[in-house]
Amino acid sequence: MELIIATRNVHKVTEVKSILSDLGMTILSLHDITERISIMETGLTFVENAKLKALKVAVHVDGIILADDSGLEVDELGGEPGVFSARYAGPEATDIENNRKLLAAMEGVPWERRQARFRCVIALVDFKKRLYISEGVCEGIIAFEPSGQCGFGYDPIFYLPQYGSTMAQLPPEIKNSISHRARALEKAKGILKIQTCR
Ligand code: IMP
Repeated sequence: MELIIATRNVHKVTEVKSILSDLGMTILSLHDITERISIMETGLTFVENAKLKALKVAVHVDGIILADDSGLEVDELGGEPGVFSARYAGPEATDIENNRKLLAAMEGVPWERRQARFRCVIALVDFKKRLYISEGVCEGIIAFEPSGQCGFGYDPIFYLPQYGSTMAQLPPEIKNSISHRARALEKAKGILKIQTCR
């Protein structure tokens, strides 16, 4: 049973593979298929973008398709960077540039006003091209400076009070048990288990 993840983001692929490892599925990504599929993320919400990615790949590839659209919402910034998380500091921005821009935008904001959350929407297209959506969030605080080497994206500046560390200081197995992605994928697992029983 093959599952294709509609992404080229190697970090997302690694995390999804780990979170879904108990299902015993073969998990591929856009790197593994010969078809060249270009996806423009033109949606204004995580749901729109996740659907758009999953349905675009489903047009070209048979099988079960899973798309992840995710990002960071900072309360003090009215929910920014949100769907623009990957491109916050510009179209080709690196994680370091995005983190720097966010820390600059939060300069002078006290600890008690630094609440934020990671949000992940998973869109799943099954063999019959039916679409399912699930969502997960992970609450935290924007740290004053980056710490930690694990994970990707905004993990070094996303502080989790219950662990006393940033997401980037947590071992992957802990991140993959509490993250927004883990929570959204847990909900999608029911649908995936039905597919594997076909
Ligand atoms: P997408 O590829 O359009 O879904 O953009 C996702 C962006 O959100 C990433 O490039 C990161 O900047 C951010 N992001 C999503 N998930 C995570 C995570 O687990 N840790 C840190 N940053 C994340």
